[in-house]
Amino acid sequence: MLQQILEKLKPTQTKLIAVSKTKPNEAILELYEQGQRDFGENKAQELAPKYEALPKDIRWHMIGHLQTNKVKYIAPFVHLIHSADSEKLLQEIDKQAAKYNRVIDCLLQFKIAAEDTKYGFDVAEAETMLQSTDFQNLKNIRIIGVMGMATFTDDENQVRQEFKRLKEIFNIIKTKYFSKDITFKEISMGMSDDYQIAIEEGSTMVRIGTLLFGKRHYASYDSKP
Ligand SMILES: *Cc1c(COP(=O)(O)O)cnc(C)c1O
Repeated sequence: MLQQILEKLKPTQTKLIAVSKTKPNEAILELYEQGQRDFGENKAQELAPKYEALPKDIRWHMIGHLQTNKVKYIAPFVHLIHSADSEKLLQEIDKQAAKYNRVIDCLLQFKIAAEDTKYGFDVAEAETMLQSTDFQNLKNIRIIGVMGMATFTDDENQVRQEFKRLKEIFNIIKTKYFSKDITFKEISMGMSDDYQIAIEEGSTMVRIGTLLFGKRHYASYDSKP
């Protein structure tokens, strides 16, 4: 399955983040042996022990809502935080990154779904933050793009419209705040069910779990029913 997905991502050079939440280290190593290096987790307390146990050239992506008091567990090593969804969280990431003399790359998560349970900025909120000097003074974070999750629905057209909206938001933020920043270029969108639509709409990173690892059993880690 890994190779099939990689084939589909090749024409657009979209990066694959293998979402390994709730999956054991052996399952991760299986993909690692096939060359996969980018893995995503949605809980800091699950990510930290996996980092300890697994090869150190794995790039770990934090993709789920991150509580400020959990940032410290992943600050020493995390490769990219996709789910930066508030200024308060970004302040804390900056503070923890400074302790380790790091600059941590982050994506601004935007709310694009119709469901109101999803975390994320709206555009006005993000702009207010980006314009504030408090934010501009943060030296240990670097914003390199945006992330979003589409509504959980069979309506492909709705999903496509939501991805189009995220691309639009990316363009607005890029033009207004990062036009000279060549590193601001990532759009993290697309999961197992909708990644092909996401690629068509300009995704640079897809986050795929179920297709690679099979269905999750929601017993311990996952908050879904
Ligand atoms: C679990 C998760 C994914 C992967 O979902 P699948 O449907 O299993 O591919 C992607 N992004 C986020 C934020 C997730 O929590």
